[in-house]
Parts: sequence; structure tokens; C-alpha cells
Amino acid sequence: MKVLAVLRNGAEPVPDVVIAGYGPAGAAAAIAAHDAGCHVLVLESTERGGGNTRYSGGFLFDLPDEAAVAHLDALCFGRTDRRVLEAYAAGLHELDGWLRSLGGTTAPFEPPPARLPAPFPSWPHLPAQAFVPGMGARGFGRIIFVVSDTIWAPPAADLLPYVTSKGALVALARTLAVAHGADGIAVTCVAPGLTATPAARAGMPAAAFEAVRARQALPRTLLPRDVAATVAFLASDGAAALTGQTLCTDGGLVMR
Ligand SMILES: Cc1cc2nc3c(=O)[nH]c(=O)nc-3n(C[C@H](O)[C@H](O)[C@H](O)COP(=O)(O)OP(=O)(O)OC[C@H]3O[C@@H](n4cnc5c(N)ncnc54)[C@H](O)[C@@H]3O)c2cc1C
Repeated sequence: MKVLAVLRNGAEPVPDVVIAGYGPAGAAAAIAAHDAGCHVLVLESTERGGGNTRYSGGFLFDLPDEAAVAHLDALCFGRTDRRVLEAYAAGLHELDGWLRSLGGTTAPFEPPPARLPAPFPSWPHLPAQAFVPGMGARGFGRIIFVVSDTIWAPPAADLLPYVTSKGALVALARTLAVAHGADGIAVTCVAPGLTATPAARAGMPAAAFEAVRARQALPRTLLPRDVAATVAFLASDGAAALTGQTLCTDGGLVMR
């Protein structure tokens, strides 16, 4: 635990207010308490303050009251007292002026263009993006990500980075499907189960394959050609109406 800030009013060494956590809520409370005449001590468990705002998009939401209350109510699944939501929504209007009074700056939000540009600039290293302009020019394209059925049934905790990255690809496929559908580009995923590739065979005992096979609705060993056939289908005219979807080639281990 670090002392990240001491906001003094006078020489009194004992703080009137101790703030635990130097995220925006803690920082706002510390400033408000200081401005009300208190001696404030801010404690933070990490090296730097900022909390989650260091990763945030930097948007300051300030909607008309009715829209803000409806939005917040939906986010809270209708379980939060409407008076709390109304007070929160009213407070949103004060944030811009408060930040400016502290010396901060804010800028109006510029809505992005209705359709994302191609290539999508946030993913400069994604190989698929290199093909998007050509696909768009022809008015036809298929992008198919190979993911994994572990995103629905993670077999072990130590697969966290693997499973998480596969899940992110599914989200990416859906977003790209929305971005590029109007250019005739479909984006889909194939989610294999434990497939008997040479690398998987070399890295896992035969008993592990048997255990997974026994849990499949179709108890057959999954082969690379199962994935290849599904990829071929997704690239074919037969899949003309498919985009943003994930097809699972795991013999029915996971049913969604
Ligand atoms: C990717 C992302 C994008 C976002 N974009 C936006 C946006 O555009 N606009 C927007 O309004 N909001 C956005 N948010 C949400 C916003 O960042 C959070 O709502 C806000 O940071 C929450 O503030 P907080 O102070 O309550 O908590 P946090 O920011 O989580 O701060 C809590 C602090 O307490 C510290 N702490 C925790 N435990 C202890 C302990 N025991 N002792 C001492 N310190 C402790 C933590 O290290 C942290 O610094 C975004 C969030 C994320 C993750």
C-alpha cells in the first residue's frame, strides 16, 4: 500500500479523511473533501493512481436526463431505485464543468462514421485486414477464424490466455462481420474440439483423447479434415447467408 497523495489543509498531521483507492472515485472524493476544508490522505495499492481510467476510452457521458435514466436503468436490470438513477443522471451534467474547474479539458464527442474504414485501423497487425481492401473492391470475401470449443467449456484454469484469446477472436469476427458485411465480406469462426493433429498427438497422452472422445455425442476421433470441411463450407456459396457465426466441430461435446 502506497501513500499516493496528501492533500493538506493546515499543519494538522492526522488526516480527517482517508481514501483507499486512487481511481476516479477516490480522487474525486479526495478533492471534494480537501475543498471542504479537510486534511486528506490517499492510499493506493498500486504504484500509480488512475485505476481503471488508465485503460478507459476517455468518454464523458452526458445524456439528457430521461435517456440517461433509461440507459442506467437498463444497465442495472431495473433493480436500482429510480431516485438513485435520477440523482446520478443529474450529477453527470456537472462533471464537465467540474473537470474544467480543476484545470482539465474536455472535447465534444465526434461520432465515428457509420461504417468502419477498411482496413480497420485498430488492428494493424491482423493479417486478415491486408485482404479486406481487395475483397471489398470485388464485393466478395470470406474471413474464417479457427477458434476452439474451449471458449464454452474451458478444460483447465491454466489455459486462461489460450481460451481468452480464442474468445476475443469470436468477438472480433462478429465486429468485423458488422464492419464489412456491406462490402460482401462474411466473417465466421470454426471452433474445433480436441483434434488429432500431429502436434496434439505428440503433446497429449492417448488417454486424454479417449477421455474427450467418450464425452462427445458423436464418439469419433476428431480429424483435421473435419475442420477443413467446415472451413470449405463457410467459404462456399452455400454459406452465402452466414456471417458473425461460430460453427463447432467437436462431435457434440459442447452444444450451444
Ligand atoms: C477498457 C475500459 C474502458 C472504459 N471506458 C470508459 C469511458 O470511456 N468512460 C467512462 O466513463 N468510463 C469508462 N470505463 C469505466 C471507468 O474506467 C470506471 O467506471 C472507473 O474507473 C471506476 O472508478 P473507481 O474509482 O470506482 O474504480 P477504479 O478505477 O477501479 O479504481 C479503484 C482503485 O482502487 C485501488 N485499490 C483496490 N483495492 C485497494 C486496496 N485494498 N487498497 C488500496 N487501493 C486499492 C485500485 O488499484 C484502483 O486504483 C472504462 C473501463 C474500462 C476497463
